[in-house]
Amino acid sequence: MEMEPYLRPLPRKEAFNMPFWEGLERGEFLVTKCKDCGDWNWIPYPGCRSCLSQNLEWKPISGKGTLMSFSVVHRGPPTFGRDPYGVALVEMEERPRSIVVLANIVDTDLDTLEIGMPMQVVYEDIPGEDITMYRVKAV
Ligand SMILES: [Zn+2]
Repeated sequence: MEMEPYLRPLPRKEAFNMPFWEGLERGEFLVTKCKDCGDWNWIPYPGCRSCLSQNLEWKPISGKGTLMSFSVVHRGPPTFGRDPYGVALVEMEERPRSIVVLANIVDTDLDTLEIGMPMQVVYEDIPGEDITMYRVKAV
């Protein structure tokens, strides 16, 4: 059977964020944690947003969080595939400064979405592409 092409835009892997993409392949969501002030830094960036230190280390987070906001798209760009689809802002459980992750919602009845509900990061290998993407689902 011929594989259906993946038409959604894909992110570009860069040297500075390569550990993140490699983590996704292993089913780990890595975020840089500042070794000087202890804050998490998301999205991947070469410096700490709290103290400007470049003394960062990649660490896996739990992937667990709560739904901070969401949008259900009923008529999206054609290349984005099936409508409707959901997009979420999920506040991860790590502290002190929280990490808010933007992601597509999968494996969830979009009619049941409620602010504050528990969510979990899940991983999706993109067929025919050398990349694993992250999504979120309700748990
Ligand atoms: Zn810092």
